[in-house]
Amino acid sequence: MPKPHNPSSETFTLHLTPKIPIPEYLCGEVQSKLAYVDEGILSARVESNRISLVLRAHPGPRTPKLEAKVHRVVASMAQGAIKPKVQILEDYLHRSVPYSQDPMEELQKRGEVFAEASGTYTLGPLLTQLIAYFESLFHSLAHQFQAVAYRFPVLISAEFLERVKYFSAFPHSLSFVTHLREDLEIIDGFSQQAHCEDHSLQVPHDMFARVKTLLSPAVCYHLYFSLADKPVPRGRVVATAVGNCFRYEAINLNSLERLWNFTMREIIFVGDKDFVLDNREAARRIMEEKFEALGLAYRVESANDPFFIGEFRKQAAFQSAFQLKYEIRARLPFKERTLAVGSYNYHQDFFGRHLNITLPNGEAAHTGCVAFGLERMAFAFLAQFGFDKNQWPSEVKEFCS
Ligand code: 5GP
Ligand code: ZN
Repeated sequence: MPKPHNPSSETFTLHLTPKIPIPEYLCGEVQSKLAYVDEGILSARVESNRISLVLRAHPGPRTPKLEAKVHRVVASMAQGAIKPKVQILEDYLHRSVPYSQDPMEELQKRGEVFAEASGTYTLGPLLTQLIAYFESLFHSLAHQFQAVAYRFPVLISAEFLERVKYFSAFPHSLSFVTHLREDLEIIDGFSQQAHCEDHSLQVPHDMFARVKTLLSPAVCYHLYFSLADKPVPRGRVVATAVGNCFRYEAINLNSLERLWNFTMREIIFVGDKDFVLDNREAARRIMEEKFEALGLAYRVESANDPFFIGEFRKQAAFQSAFQLKYEIRARLPFKERTLAVGSYNYHQDFFGRHLNITLPNGEAAHTGCVAFGLERMAFAFLAQFGFDKNQWPSEVKEFCS
C-alpha cells in the first residue's frame, strides 16, 4: 500500500513498496526510467524496498493508474534480472587529485555556463579551452589509427533510425524535428499567433509537418548510414568525427553531468570482427597512457546502454555477456560517485546486418567506436583539479594559458 505524506503545500510525495525487491545494482537504472512514467513526477528516489515520488500535486483519482505504471517499470526491469558481472579493465579511481568541490557553483559564478533551456548550455572560454585540450588528445588518438575525418549533420533520418531499431531501444530519449506545413494560411497564422507560455510555444499541433528527421543521438550512426547497402571499400574504414548529440533526459537533466544536447568525439572502426576488437583494445591502451600522464582518477568497467524498460533486461544482459561496452568512469570527488566520460563499444555485426554493409567475403561488417563526451570530460577534470591552474597538470596548464 502507498503511504502518502505531504511535505509542502505545493508538492506531494508518494511512497510505494515495490512488489518485488529491486536489486541494489538496478536501483539507479529504475530511478532514471521513472522520470518517463508520468508528467506529474518532479523527482524519484528508488531504494530496494521503497520508491518515493515527488509529484507536482496529489494525483487524486489517477493514483492507482500511476502506481500501476510504476509497478510495470519495476516488473519489466527487475523481474528475473541477473546481476551482470562487472568487469574492471583499469582501476585508477583512487589517484590523488587536488580538488573536491562541485565545480558547477564556481562555473555559474564565473559566467562559464549559461542554461539557455533545460539541458542546453552555452559554455564560456575556460570550458571551451578545456574541451579544446581534450580534443587535442583525441585528435592524437585518431591520428595513431590514421582515422579519416568526417563531418556529420545534426539532423538524422527517421527511416535510417528505424532500420537500426532505435525506436524500440531508446524511444524515451528521442528528439523530433519538424517545420511548418507548406501552406500559406498556416504560415501566416503561425506568424500572427505564435507566442511562448510556460517556456513552450503555443500553437496548434496540426500546423507542424510530419516528422521525417530527428536530432541525432550519436555520431557513429551517420557513418554506418553512409555505408549502407554496399560493400565497404577495401573491407575496412577508420573514421573520426565530433558532433552534437541529443538525448532527452526529462527530470534527469542535471548540470553538465547530464545534458539534452552534448558533444561527442568518436573514433569509428568498420571491418571484420578481429579488426574492430583489436582496434578497440589498442585505443583503450593508448588512452590509458594519456589518462595516466594527466593524473585523472577513473576506472574502466563493463557497462550497458540505457535501453527503455521493455528492452532493458534482455539487451543489457546481452551487452554484458558479450562484453560489448566498457565505460570510462571518472571520479567526482565532491559526491564520491563516478561519471561516464567515454566508452569503448563493439556492436558486433548489428549495423552491418541491419544496414546491409558488407565485407569483401560477402559477410556483414562488424563495427565499433570509441566515444568521449566532451562536456563531461571538462566537468570531471574541473571536479578533480579545480580552478587554480597551478594545481593543474602542466600540459593542460600550458595548453589553456
Ligand atoms: P554512449 O554512446 O556510451 O552512451 O555515450 C558516449 C559518451 O557520451 C558517454 O560516455 C558520455 O561521456 C557522453 N554522454 C552520454 N550521455 C550524455 C549526457 O546525457 N550528457 C552528457 N553531458 N554527456 C553524455
Ligand atoms: Zn558510436
